[in-house]
Amino acid sequence: MCAAKSNLIESYFDRLWPLHRSISGEGLRKTYEILSELVPFNIIEVPSGNKVYDWVVPKEWKVNGAYLLGPDGSKILDVEENNLHLVNYSAPFKGYIDWRELQQHLHTKPELPNAIPYITSYYKEEWGFCLSENKKLSLPKEGKYFVSIDTELFDGSITLAEYVLEGDNEEELFFSSYACHPSLANDELSGPLVLAFLFNRLKNKKKRKFTYRFLLNPETIGSLAYLSLKNEELSKKMVAGYVLTNLAVEQPFRYKESKNVNSIGNKIASYNVNQLHGRVEKFQPLGSDERQYCSLGFNLPVGVLARGDNYYKEYHSSLDNKSFISFDAMNESIGVAEKICDVFEKNRILKNEYIFGEPNLGKRGLYPEMGRASNPDEDISAILWLLNNADGDKDLIDIAIESGIDFDILSKVAASAERKGVLIT
Ligand code: ZN
Repeated sequence: MCAAKSNLIESYFDRLWPLHRSISGEGLRKTYEILSELVPFNIIEVPSGNKVYDWVVPKEWKVNGAYLLGPDGSKILDVEENNLHLVNYSAPFKGYIDWRELQQHLHTKPELPNAIPYITSYYKEEWGFCLSENKKLSLPKEGKYFVSIDTELFDGSITLAEYVLEGDNEEELFFSSYACHPSLANDELSGPLVLAFLFNRLKNKKKRKFTYRFLLNPETIGSLAYLSLKNEELSKKMVAGYVLTNLAVEQPFRYKESKNVNSIGNKIASYNVNQLHGRVEKFQPLGSDERQYCSLGFNLPVGVLARGDNYYKEYHSSLDNKSFISFDAMNESIGVAEKICDVFEKNRILKNEYIFGEPNLGKRGLYPEMGRASNPDEDISAILWLLNNADGDKDLIDIAIESGIDFDILSKVAASAERKGVLIT
């Protein structure tokens, strides 16, 4: 694994980690600003109060500070120490309360007694603190606690970041991830980072057949807002889409299919994940923004590229931190997303011009050319599979899946046969 690339990913991670992200506000904007060094994003602000389908864009949220003092005046927790301590979108509150009332506002994760959970309350005006179960158990049950939550909820906007990287044609591959979680590593910083570094690799390609659309958004409300603005364009141009999430752990790759079962996006991503001995799952309506993209009204071909289990033990807690993840794993994930794009770029439907018996390959110099290859048997096998399957209907990925021959070998051998006029596109 390339250490230099992993180090660069890590340096961005370190800058993004402390920002107090939410579904709106300065933490989210600053996240996009930092990632704009890698992707020249267009920033889209969608005002509070805007209706997006059955939802309304909520008020913007700002945190000035938040802490809890114990009955003896000592500080029990402070959002400055860990931004997970404050329930995300907490309404402002200041005052003395007793333990009975306080505990209704305290959230822990008893099964992980040292972890601070990540809790949100976007659509219900509440306030609360998150802390470890062990810390909660140590708190006195008598006396008055002092709560200070200095937050603001006001008419502002939610923010989206989009960039369209032009290719030779208008057909698009879509990559999205969400950027609304505060200091959490695998879920979520891995998603935006893989997306940004994937862009970096694709922009440096000399030739691109496809146009690539990248989107970062606050989860759910952001994808809905984006759909409300761009659904016609997406429906018209999108060939395949992938939500990128949970990509920083050294665990097998996982592809969750889009609802559109026979889509080319499912075929190509499944092929790549299967090649890596990963897992392919059917669509189910739990998860991230694919729920919106694959809803009945849109049914866009958007799947999910991830690693490991969806709901791992450390998920949505302070244990999903830098020491839980691997930057080499993230670098590898960028490579797999790039490979999916590469297969899309090279995939094509071929037609054999000599369908009555096999053509004389030797006479066209196709045997000797293959004879020089590093693995001639594999190349000969590839040409025979191509000739027998290139019916003008199947594409290269179909033949790769059926034959078990590596896609890149088939593509390279097909290119030789195309040069000799044996196969045509
Ligand atoms: Zn999450």
